[in-house]
Amino acid sequence: MDSDEPILRAEGLVKHYPVTRGVLFKRTVGQVKAVDGVDLALRPGETLGVVGESGCGKSTLARLLLAAERPTAGTVRFAGRDLSALPRRELRALRRRVQLVMQDPYSSLNPRMTVGDIVGEPFEIHPDAAPKGDRRARVRELLELVGLDAGHVGRYPHQFSGGQRQRVGIARALALRPDVVVCDEPVSALDVSVQAQVMNLLAGLQRELGLAYVFIAHDLAAVRHLSDRIAVMYLGRIVETGERERIYDHPTHPYTQALLSAAPIPDPGAPGWAGQILLEGEPPSPIDPPSGCRFRTRCWKAAEICAAEEPALVPRAGSAHPSACHFAAERVVSEDA
Ligand code: ADP
Ligand code: MG
Repeated sequence: MDSDEPILRAEGLVKHYPVTRGVLFKRTVGQVKAVDGVDLALRPGETLGVVGESGCGKSTLARLLLAAERPTAGTVRFAGRDLSALPRRELRALRRRVQLVMQDPYSSLNPRMTVGDIVGEPFEIHPDAAPKGDRRARVRELLELVGLDAGHVGRYPHQFSGGQRQRVGIARALALRPDVVVCDEPVSALDVSVQAQVMNLLAGLQRELGLAYVFIAHDLAAVRHLSDRIAVMYLGRIVETGERERIYDHPTHPYTQALLSAAPIPDPGAPGWAGQILLEGEPPSPIDPPSGCRFRTRCWKAAEICAAEEPALVPRAGSAHPSACHFAAERVVSEDA
């Protein structure tokens, strides 16, 4: 396969969940538009950072990419093959090449299983992945790979710290030698002091094993160092996407600019910095998103066209990367900032 060929590609991905009323006479009164038309491509060995506020559909997107849920519309392709069109056996075989690291390492680890059993569980589910006689050695190797003491295989999750439990989750995700790991806010639940350690571990594993990551976070600061490219999500859609430097240094969508402005800026004198933008309130409900541009109800640039016409995700403002804003523009450094 050409190395520029995406290993994972989503096209027109949609996931709507019905909202129902009533107990005896259940009726559908609406749809939660959790993911509502997402395209993305991930190349082997690269990291795509996916960023957006809580509720914008990041975890739903993750489940679709893992083929853990069926999309309402659209396709997910792994190595060019449409996952929804595959026979069960082949889907099983491909599925193990895309693995998940979850946000909360505690709720995702069975408290009654030893760490060795947790990390080795994928071999029970996919017995052909490692011969029975090799599994114990594989588990010890996996624990060492993530910086844990292989002698602790017999311990239980509660005997580990939060950061160590996340390492256990990572070891399990790597057991079947995946090509892609979807990391869904993997450090959000950890103490700030251990977040960097887990991020460094993930970066090192990527270099060592050639993994591609979809790295999900709710703020742009968290994915800056790891990401090659960034996709910014708002209410089920990608509003801006591009190479890391483009997004951090020359964002053109007001939502991206607001997210960056909310993040601690190490150097307020840096080019492009034009003072704080306050993002007010919460995103509107994904059951009934605003017409036209979904961000318009919180946007300081909103005009009539924004309610009437949904802006396409296309290159704007003389900039090479796509941005879904009618008034996309690089911010000018203002004197009074
Ligand atoms: P994020 O991970 O960005 O916080 P989610 O993907 O978890 O967002 O959720 C997006 C929206 O979809 C939210 O409004 C959430 O309540 C809704 N949602 C997620 N999963 C389900 C589900 N299984 N059934 C109904 N609604 C859901
Ligand atoms: Mg989530």
